[in-house]
Amino acid sequence: MNRRSFNKILLGTTALSFATCASIADTKLSTNKKRVIVVGGGFGGATAAKYLKKFSPDTEVMLIEQNKDYYTCPFSNTVIAGINKIDYIKHDYKTLESKYKIIVKHEKVQKVDGTTNSVILENGEIIPYTKAIVAPGIDFKYDKGYIEGSEEYAPHAYKAGTQTVLLTEQLQNMKDGGTFIMVAPANPFRCPPGPYERVSLVAHYLKHNKPNSKIVILDQKNNFSKQGLFQEGWEKLYKGMIDWRSSEFGGKVISVDPKTRTIKTDEGDIVADVLNYIPEQKAGKLAFDSGLTDGDWCPINTKTFESKLVKNVYVIGDACIASPMPKSGFSANSQGKIVALQISRILAKQEVINPPKLANTCYSLVAPNYGISIAAVYEAHDEKIIDLKELGAGGLSPSYANESIRMQEAEYAVGWYKNQMTDIFK
Ligand code: FAD
Repeated sequence: MNRRSFNKILLGTTALSFATCASIADTKLSTNKKRVIVVGGGFGGATAAKYLKKFSPDTEVMLIEQNKDYYTCPFSNTVIAGINKIDYIKHDYKTLESKYKIIVKHEKVQKVDGTTNSVILENGEIIPYTKAIVAPGIDFKYDKGYIEGSEEYAPHAYKAGTQTVLLTEQLQNMKDGGTFIMVAPANPFRCPPGPYERVSLVAHYLKHNKPNSKIVILDQKNNFSKQGLFQEGWEKLYKGMIDWRSSEFGGKVISVDPKTRTIKTDEGDIVADVLNYIPEQKAGKLAFDSGLTDGDWCPINTKTFESKLVKNVYVIGDACIASPMPKSGFSANSQGKIVALQISRILAKQEVINPPKLANTCYSLVAPNYGISIAAVYEAHDEKIIDLKELGAGGLSPSYANESIRMQEAEYAVGWYKNQMTDIFK
């Protein structure tokens, strides 16, 4: 061994022992220091981190997110339909770091360990916390021949980014006269109106670019969110183009071959030119690895969002059980604010807000100038969340409204998106 390579090894070893020392030395928080670690920088996690810093400026807030850029699912359907470019839905964490002094780490978390109150990163680093907020979003249940890797052939595009781009390209390359098939999942899943907004905007694209094409939805359920409003829009704008098959009447998938895009149903085989297969869903893997799940999702105390299974860990967003709130970005944002408020009060030894109020509005575009929505306000108690519709809160867009109302709702949808992105990332 020559001197240079020996020095290299020595340097490496020293660096390693410093790194090990750092993680070991840091495995306990000093008694007067409060650190909240937020895992997952999506709608839920990024909101919680920002608002926690606002409500509790002296608390150290660390946001751990595996990706440097975040691509939103909201408005990803406009990218697939060629209305917006992919950069329209791309956001980063720089302002959270510089303006709000949140410590942002781009690392993958292996586990949130409730027995030692620490977060374990995949790189081996161990970081202790006073409280942890977990918002890992969803993962997919692979079944019926749709396995890991199938998304290369039959994209789900239900996590935005590369999947959005792939489905966009497949749609652009589809021949005029082709068949776009969507398999829509059974409940519960992320964004109940999401598949139907997508079909609407794909129809908009096909109508203007490949008018002889058709769309088949093989649905794994018998009804869907805002169904009347969507179907009214389809009849008006895309007559004869969209064939929705409920689970009971021809939609049920028995198996799929993603490579040949062939689907076996009760009523025979059907082959797609483009297959958008949206699998059934469950909480993100991290929730399972951290012992936060019971079945597919994470049970919580709905007033504080603290896990029922692991103390000092709070779960928000798509991964938690917060029904009747839908699994939406707006819900996750609303939950992010409430969890930040409740934790800031607990850290300050104050009573938590009882009961907190939450809200959701899901806008959908049936066409770029045709919007519809559903809204609700909720009250959260220890064991349940109540929809305040009995008090007249929320509701659906009117049926058979005139064009200017639909146009206005499309403008509100765009406004909502811009406001949310500012609220979360700026
Ligand atoms: P996510 O936003 O998915 O964030 C989870 C984050 O955690 C990710 O950034 C991920 O990288 C990170 N993460 C996961 N595991 C780890 C780990 N181990 N280590 C580090 N980081 C990790 N909602 C609306 O309100 N309005 C809409 O118009 C709307 N449209 C939609 C359209 C479509 C097509 C789809 C699919 C969804 C839509 N949604 C909409 C729903 C919305 O996208 C989700 O409800 C929302 O993203 C949930 O937020 P979340 O914070 O729970 O999860």
